[in-house]
This record gives sequence, structure tokens and C-alpha cells, in this order.
Amino acid sequence: MKFYYSDRQNLHAPATFLLRGKPAPSPEGPVRAEILLAEMAQLGITLSEPDGLTSTENEARLRERLARIHTPRYLNFLETIHARWREMPGASEVVAPNVHPCAGGRQYPDHPIGQAGWHLHDMACPIGPDSFAGILASAATAEAAALSVVQGEASAYALCRPPGHHAGPEQIGGFCYLNNSALAATVLREKYDRVAIVDVDLHHGNGTQDIFYRRSDVWTGSLHADTREFYPFFWGQDNETGEGEGKGFNVNIPLPLGSDGAVFCQALEQLLERLDQFRPQAVVVALGLDAHKDDPLAGLMLETSDFQRIGERLAKLQLPTVLVQEGGYPTEALGNNLAAFLNGFRGT
Ligand SMILES: [Zn+2]
Repeated sequence: MKFYYSDRQNLHAPATFLLRGKPAPSPEGPVRAEILLAEMAQLGITLSEPDGLTSTENEARLRERLARIHTPRYLNFLETIHARWREMPGASEVVAPNVHPCAGGRQYPDHPIGQAGWHLHDMACPIGPDSFAGILASAATAEAAALSVVQGEASAYALCRPPGHHAGPEQIGGFCYLNNSALAATVLREKYDRVAIVDVDLHHGNGTQDIFYRRSDVWTGSLHADTREFYPFFWGQDNETGEGEGKGFNVNIPLPLGSDGAVFCQALEQLLERLDQFRPQAVVVALGLDAHKDDPLAGLMLETSDFQRIGERLAKLQLPTVLVQEGGYPTEALGNNLAAFLNGFRGT
């Protein structure tokens, strides 16, 4: 199994986010990568550096792929907003809009506050001076892992942070800016006609759903805590099945808050039965580890051993697979949960 990560990802290091209306330390920081890296070293899986940012040519290739899943104005916003924000007299250190087009805006504004309000779904996603470089490096990690699978590796793990599955065509949300899982699927589509994304994160992968909602070439499925009572709140129900060409190619299975591993694994079975009808040729696993019972975002009650079962089940698909790190926040169990998943997946 190939394994990709770049230290440049740490350039994005948000200090705080807004929790129940109050600033709190962000759980999505470089310490997550440290924990997961230590676990990978323990497992003896060799680290490779992604090459997406090592030359102008490679970076152009990465940006061209990102432009297939995000809008040009959104990519431009991500890259330029911090500098434009700081030019405003008395502006905060990080981008923090105070106005949003809740009822759906009719025009895309020119002003940095208006643009930030347009693109930011929530207040969990501060943008600092070096954030874009770190966010782009995380995308390059997903790209490299997917390229290795296209070139013949059976599977690869991308240690992406910041994560990506809440990022839509032009929406930031839930610690996510560029959709790394969607990017990995985009790379796989260069070789395979039918690609699936299976999202096992605690949260609904609303960004991924949005990106592929009208497409039948990338199937998307998500298991998550019921969004009637849980983030991201406005998407994630089972009647969201896709539109137009994409009708029937999006599957959501919301689970009651506090569900355990038995309920989760049964729902995974249902999800994979639906996936089977799609006859996928390659798969991206949006690998969130935050469904664990000790995770600070507490919504489901999985044990570490459940991640092993999930890994075993996904390995049975016997498909070329890119594992893209999504959520999973610092606890004693975080590293063990990754190891359990990978042991199950690799059959060790
Ligand atoms: Zn999550």
C-alpha cells in the first residue's frame, strides 16, 4: 500500500473555531497529522511525498483537475481572500464574515466580506495567511494517492488534512476547503468509467454529494449521524438521490445519534448492496474516523474494533481503492482507529 503526506499541509493551522457561539481551540490542526503519521510509522508503511507541487507543470495539472470539481471564482477566492481581507482597515487576522445569503443570493458580490459570506457555510474554517498553501498541499496528497492507483497500485492512503468532504463546488464548511475525495475520484475517472465514493465519516459528505449530484459516472454514498439533529444539518437524508443524469447515483443512510458499530456495519452492508448495482471499477473511501465513541464531535458510538470490520468489508470489494483521510479528531483512540481500519483492510 502506498502512503502519501506532505509537511506543507501544516501551513494550514487554524487556532480556533466557533463552538456553540464561543471561540474554542480547533480540533482540526497539525497534531492530527502527527498522531496519524506516528501510527503509519508503527505499521511500517513507507511515506511517499506527493509531487503535485514540485514543478509549475505539476501544479498546473493539479489546478486543472481541481477546476473540474470547483468553480473558477471559488478557487480564486480561496487563493486571494486572505490578502484582500487584511487590506480592510481594522480587519481580523483570519477571514470571518458576518453576513451570509441565507435565502440564496441573486448576485455574487465584489467585496471580500460579501464573497466570504457567500462561500463560508460555517465558522469552523478560518483562513490564515498560509492556509491556501496548506490546503493545496492536502489536495496534492489526494491526487498523488489516486495517481498511484491509476498506475497500478492496488490501494493507497492519503493523509489529507485539512479534510475535504464538506467542501462543495464553491462552498467551504466543516474544516474543509478543497474536496480531496472528489479530486481522487476525478483522477480515477481518467482511467475508469465508473468510480464510487463511499463515505464512512461521522458526518454527511454534503460537499461530495453536491459535486456529483447530477452525474452518473461517479456514484456517491454516505453513512452518517442523522442530519436532522447533527452537522451539516441541511443535507443528508435518504430522499436525496441525485438529479437529472445523476438520479439514483447518490445514496444517503442517516443513522440515529448514538448508534453503535453493529448498526453502522449493518447500514454499510445496505450501502454496499446499492453500490454493487452500480458495478464500480474503482473506489474512493472517504475515511473519517470520527464515528468513534470518544471523538470530541461525539455523534456515534463505534469501538476501535468496528473500524477493523469496516476495513475488512471494504477490502472485500476487491477494487482499486484510494483511502482519503477525512475527519477524526485527537483522542487516545485516533491512531488505533486508523491502525484497526488498515489492519482490517490489508488483512493483517
Ligand atoms: Zn466528520
